Formats: sequence, structure tokens, C-alpha cells
Amino acid sequence: MIALEKSHTKKMNLKITVLVFIFAITLTEAYKSYENYKVYKIVPKTTEHVQVLTDLPKEEYYFWSDIVKIDSDVRILVSPNKNTEFVKYMASVKIEPVLAISNVQELIRAQMQPSHTTKSSKLGSFSWDQYHNLDEIHTWLNELEKMYPDIVTAITIGRSNEGRNITGVIIDFKAGARGNNSLTGMIEGGIHAREWISPATVTWIIKEFLTSKDPDVRFMAETFVWHIFPVINPDGYSYTFTDNRMWRKNRNLLYNPNCTGNWDLGNGIDLNRNFDFLWNTIGASSNPCDETYAGPSPASEPETKAIVDYVLKLKEAGNLMYYLAFHSYSQMILIPYSHLSGTNVLDLPNYGDLYEISIRGAEKLKQKYGTEYEVGTSADILYPVTGASFDWVKGIGNATIVYLFELRDKGEYGFLLPSSQIIPNNEEIMECLVEMDKGARKLGYYSGTSNLYASLLSLVFSVGFLTICQ
Ligand SMILES: [Zn+2]
Repeated sequence: MIALEKSHTKKMNLKITVLVFIFAITLTEAYKSYENYKVYKIVPKTTEHVQVLTDLPKEEYYFWSDIVKIDSDVRILVSPNKNTEFVKYMASVKIEPVLAISNVQELIRAQMQPSHTTKSSKLGSFSWDQYHNLDEIHTWLNELEKMYPDIVTAITIGRSNEGRNITGVIIDFKAGARGNNSLTGMIEGGIHAREWISPATVTWIIKEFLTSKDPDVRFMAETFVWHIFPVINPDGYSYTFTDNRMWRKNRNLLYNPNCTGNWDLGNGIDLNRNFDFLWNTIGASSNPCDETYAGPSPASEPETKAIVDYVLKLKEAGNLMYYLAFHSYSQMILIPYSHLSGTNVLDLPNYGDLYEISIRGAEKLKQKYGTEYEVGTSADILYPVTGASFDWVKGIGNATIVYLFELRDKGEYGFLLPSSQIIPNNEEIMECLVEMDKGARKLGYYSGTSNLYASLLSLVFSVGFLTICQ
């Protein structure tokens, strides 16, 4: 009997071991490995260089940059089996690529780990010394509602292609005490799946609005009703954790299931080209296999529709003052409209103000850690684009102050920004936002009394202090 039991237990153990092994293999197979993949940096100096790079077969060399032009920093991901060929070919056409990342998978592994160098910062179950997956973000948003029942409402504004929730929070410090015409702001993150620093920044802004004691942050947080959505492409974002770290688009594979190529990065729709504002006119593609595929028609995607319907509701309610979209990488504050350059930027009536406000923000941002951000329209400082969410929100949603942030860095790590940079990135962005808000008030976009209030407070304190001294 005992011998029988032993043999049974042995068999069970073997079964469990085999199951665990199969599970491990399945996981490993599902997750695309970038072991020994390299990233090269090239700055093309001539039109010939640009032509050589443009002609490289995209199914073999994966460009992190959407566009190649003279003097722009181009990052190219190269697989181990193409490396020697790539280096030889570049030498033959007199281009000297600089090895920027020697093993992409090593950075992916590092990104999954919490940073040990940054100070810790927590709110509830959430911290910013590490990147969080979709479930953790959603759990936290719901947790906030319980932590701040009078201030925070968790809200789901739609579902993705694969049925995931598009969830955010409404933050209202004066719920029920505002008139009909309350000032509103909306923040969007994670439209591009692989740009992990975007949700990490947007969640930080939520934390600051709820907990900061800085009077200017408090003023910004409490003057507006904020509608904040950290991940508006939940399928894509999840996919970067489970299958392929380099995924950018949504996960609608309907329009061409056969374009996986060497990278398994085809299919899907670029949500930030899917909006109905000069849709698919420039800087977008009609090819479902391209990274900038605009989709079969404007606002074809449920993720896009969710944003569109929500913004239209806010527009109808009036006073949609802010709309901020967060992306990475390249350290820029982009002003609408993304297809306008040169003097044409003035087609946007308040371009001058938006420029002034963002320059002020960028200067303040630099003071924190020396990080430099460029300011301008995408066509002026990056490349012309149409169908982007923030352009649509400006043009059709009529929001007053609209920006797209391209967060850290300038390509050193690119999408694989180490977790040790999350908090410094977030801190400098928060300084920037507060400064921009002050700029907006100075230009008369809305009236505010935070500085006056702060001055009065300090006067009261000084008088009190003097009284004690006497
Ligand atoms: Zn992006």
C-alpha cells in the first residue's frame, strides 16, 4: 500500500514537472526574444545616406524612427543573423553606424525589474520605481476610488478590439459644488503600446493631483475637473508584456493577417493615425503591415471611438481647456497641427500662445535635471503627420490648450527607458505642467488666484512671525 502510494506520488510529481515545463516553454515561445538583437544609431548626412536607409528592407531591419531625414537620429534594430551583413553593407556605402544597444533583451529584462537607485514613491498598491502592467494599473485606478470616494470616480469609456476596458479616473475636488461651466482637462496615455513611460507619467500626474502639497499643483488639480486615461490602447499595452515588447499599434488584425514578416510586428492599426482629422493625408500609411497604418476608415477602431465620443461630450459641456497626450521618445512638446510647418503654423489661431506657454514649460523642465525638450509642430521639428488624436481634439473637439509630449529619452534607450528614469522623468514633467499652467493664466486663458493666495498666505505668516519676534 505504502509502496503504491509512493509510486503514485512519484507519478504525480513527474506529471507536475512536465506540466510546469510545458507551461514554461509556452510562455517562452509566446514572448518574442530580442536576445543579442542590436540597435544602431545613424545620423544621415546626405540625400544618398537617406536613400540608402530608406531602401533597406523593412522586413529585415526594424526602424525605431518613423521617418528618415538628413541630420535626424535614426535608430535601427538588427537581428543577430543580419548583424554582420548590415555592418558590411553600411561600410560599403560609407555610413558609420554607432552601436547604441548591444543586447536589446538585456534592457527588456532590466525594464521588468524595479529600480534600486531611485527613491521610492508609493500611493496605495502603486509605485513608480517600476513599470506596471495593465491589470496593475486598472486595479490601482479602482483602488483610488475607494481611497478618495469624494474626489475620484473610476470610469470606463469603452472596450478595445479584444474586449479590454478603456478605464480612467475623473478627479474632481469640488464635486457637486461647481456650476455648469466647470473648467475641464483631459489626459491620454498609452496610445502607442511600447511607450511604457507614457502610462508611468500619466499615473504620476494622477498621484500628484491627489497628494501634492505644492500650492501650484494643488491649484491646477482643484481648479479643473480632470479626466485621465493612462492606457487608451489596452490590447497593445498588454501585448508588450506578454508577447512582443516592440508592439506599437492596436491588436485589430482584420485587415491583413499575413504581414508578420521577420519581426512579428505587422497588422494592427496605429490609433494615433486613426482620428478623423485630415485622416490618412500625410505621415500615415494605407498598408496594414506598416507601423503607421491609419486603418480602413477614420475612427474605425473602438479605442478611437471611445476617445472621440468622450471628448465630444466634454466639448458639449463646454470649457475643455486642456488636452495632453503622452508619448515617447525624443523629448519634445508638440503643438497642433502636426501637418503645418513654417509660417503655416499660424493657421492655428492660438499657436503663438501655445508656443509661448510650452517654451516656458520646457525652460522650467530643464531646470530640474538639465533635460532639454524641443518645442514646435511635428512637421517643424519631427515629421508631418495627420490623423493624430491631439490634432483631432484641437480641430474638432475645440479644446483650448493642446499638446503632445514625447517623453525621455533622445534614443539612448528609446522605448526601453530604464525604470530608474521613471521618477526623474515624471518630476520634471510635473514642473513643466505647472509652469505651463501658470503661463496659460498669465495669458488670460482662465483666471486664477493661486499665486495671490500663496502671497496672502506668506504675508499672514510673515506678519505672524514678526509679531512673535517682537
Ligand atoms: Zn507614440
